[in-house]
Amino acid sequence: MKFALAGNPNCGKTSFFNFVSGAHERVGNYSGVTVDAKEGTTTFEGYQLNIVDLPGTYSLSAYSPEELYVRKQLVEHTPDIILNVIDSSNLERNLYLTTQLVDMHLSIVCALNMFDETEKRGDKVDYDKLSELFGIPMIPTVFKTGRGVDDLLRMVIKLYEGNEDEESHYRHIHIYHGHEIENGISHIQKYLKTDASLRHRYSTRYLGIKLLEGDKDIEALIKTLPNATEILKARGQAAARVKEETLEDSETAIMDAKYGFIHGALKEASFETGDNKDTYLMTHYLDRAITNKYLGFPIFIAMIWLMFEVTFSLGQYPMDWIESFVGWVGEMVGSSMPEGPLKAMITDGIIGGVGSVIVFLPQILILYFFISFMEDSGYMARAAFIMDKLMHKMGLHGKSFIPLIMGFGCNVPAVMATRTIESHRSRLITMLILPLMSCSARLPIYIMVIGTFFAIQYRSLIMVSLYLIGIFLAVILSRIFASFVVKGEDTPFVMELPPYRFPTWKAIGRHTWEKGKQYLKKMGGIILVASIIVWALGYFPHNEELDNQAQQEQSYIGRIGKTIEPIFTPQGFDWKLDVGLVSGVGAKEIVASTMGVLYSNNDSFSDDQDYNDEDGKYEVLKKQMTSDLKKTYGYSDAEAASKATLTAYCFLLFVLLYFPCIATIAAIKGETGSWKWAGFAAGYTTLLAWVVSALVFQIGSLFI
Ligand code: GDP
Ligand code: MG
Repeated sequence: MKFALAGNPNCGKTSFFNFVSGAHERVGNYSGVTVDAKEGTTTFEGYQLNIVDLPGTYSLSAYSPEELYVRKQLVEHTPDIILNVIDSSNLERNLYLTTQLVDMHLSIVCALNMFDETEKRGDKVDYDKLSELFGIPMIPTVFKTGRGVDDLLRMVIKLYEGNEDEESHYRHIHIYHGHEIENGISHIQKYLKTDASLRHRYSTRYLGIKLLEGDKDIEALIKTLPNATEILKARGQAAARVKEETLEDSETAIMDAKYGFIHGALKEASFETGDNKDTYLMTHYLDRAITNKYLGFPIFIAMIWLMFEVTFSLGQYPMDWIESFVGWVGEMVGSSMPEGPLKAMITDGIIGGVGSVIVFLPQILILYFFISFMEDSGYMARAAFIMDKLMHKMGLHGKSFIPLIMGFGCNVPAVMATRTIESHRSRLITMLILPLMSCSARLPIYIMVIGTFFAIQYRSLIMVSLYLIGIFLAVILSRIFASFVVKGEDTPFVMELPPYRFPTWKAIGRHTWEKGKQYLKKMGGIILVASIIVWALGYFPHNEELDNQAQQEQSYIGRIGKTIEPIFTPQGFDWKLDVGLVSGVGAKEIVASTMGVLYSNNDSFSDDQDYNDEDGKYEVLKKQMTSDLKKTYGYSDAEAASKATLTAYCFLLFVLLYFPCIATIAAIKGETGSWKWAGFAAGYTTLLAWVVSALVFQIGSLFI
């Protein structure tokens, strides 16, 4: 048996999905966490249940891609039962979607979820009565703890088997929209019914309602029929009548009628909100400070600052441990293996490459811990709210803010998360500027290069400057895109402020770990492979006679690097840096692992004292990069150090801005459905990177 979860965002669908299927899908305390249909299975009392978790929507109109998506899933994949999850602490709004599901003539079971919060607040509702009025079984549940889940599943099976004992209780009802609209619907239905193939697939009542609402998607469907003109003419007549009689356009009239129905049903079910509004009292208190006109912004900045500060300072300790561990493994392998290509591959290629990236795992876990906490507690939704005004200045919406923040973690899920943005135009612009949000894959390069070239007291400043430059350019470009590139209109929409919830440690731990796991997978996959390739290109053709430096220069990678060197002379990069940049197209961590390989095991510098001197972790990298640059550009001894530092900074700027990675570009293609925008994103970022880093280098060179 197949059943699908439908409901508003943030009502607990994914919690249920995880609870029964044992999955670990993402739950979060803001709308739009689930952006794809997720499938899972479970067995219950001898039945095999296939469950599909759908994105949350407030309605099933055709305004946002999510709404269209859910509708398509419901119509084309015809689940046997729809499980409509309802946040019962917010009945009136949640039931709106239910009325639309009823229009579609589906078999529905309702879960009155968050019943714990309703009870705490002292709300009262006769849910037997309510379920009778809607013609849908309704079961109180708490998906956080699993309360009511068995009853719910039993009801789903009972409905599926069709042997309800209270026969009359669950009949299919029609939401009554008032006689003007109902007449209109029947009028359109008369013409729809003449098409037999249509009648099989859709409820004609549903199509009638949708046509009267002026739904573009359904109109397109009708236009494929032979008697399309007749049907659309009937629609026109009906809509005109409704307008005359209700003085409103039919879309608004239908919405009003639905809310009227809900209001009436709730009255009849003696719905009363309780007096002890404890659950929201806390939220209101907190919001008074957090979304305050004056306090909100400083609090937000403090949060972000705290996030990065803890990430870098606390992360330093485990990073050092992993680093010494990697060093120890390298020595063990180095001393126990015979000389030759295999040893070189393992020590220089694998340990040098993967090892130089894996040390950043703790920092990335800490960063994700903070992001998960902000999401799950409800703070992220507030952050979006606070940023709304600012985002409007960028030609965007507050809602764009959450994907942008997620972009600091990884651009790929962030591109998918733009689905919550109803306005097509804002969504596209958000996707286009997302690559400028410095994702965590770039972190290893920053830490490596900054640690090498800048004194400890300037490191945070340099790091923050990169993030800020990314954000600053995103602001500028989104304004440019909004006025010149992406044309179109905006649809206004509500920004949800879900109640604050203290997230469970289990959930946070899980979200953090899932991200960490992805990171490790990348290590074992693309980064491992890339490290070996880069090593092999540098090792072959092999000539024992030459020293390391000369060997690399005459190797394949040296030749590739030398060929592209002219492209990057305005930035003052040398061929090793260029090779790093090219390899980073697959994933940005590879830039760091490539540098790890290219600058590892250099005979002339590998005497022990270099590793041992204080704060000299990257001393090899610094010495070698400086001497390479000196050789390439003929810097004098006096200017070499400062030139190298400038080049290092420009290199970081380039890494920040250029081509995000293949996965991100593929995600943009997937979400926009066209290579045009994906190609645009890839092209403009690279051009921007080239121009900005060249400008900074050239201008900087005037002063040093
Ligand atoms: P979805 O957007 O519908 O998939 O909702 P989620 O499953 O992501 O849940 C949203 C938030 O509500 C999460 O923080 C859950 O922990 C919380 N939640 C889910 N069900 C309940 C419930 O029955 N009671 C309470 N108090 N919280 C719940
Ligand atoms: Mg969900």
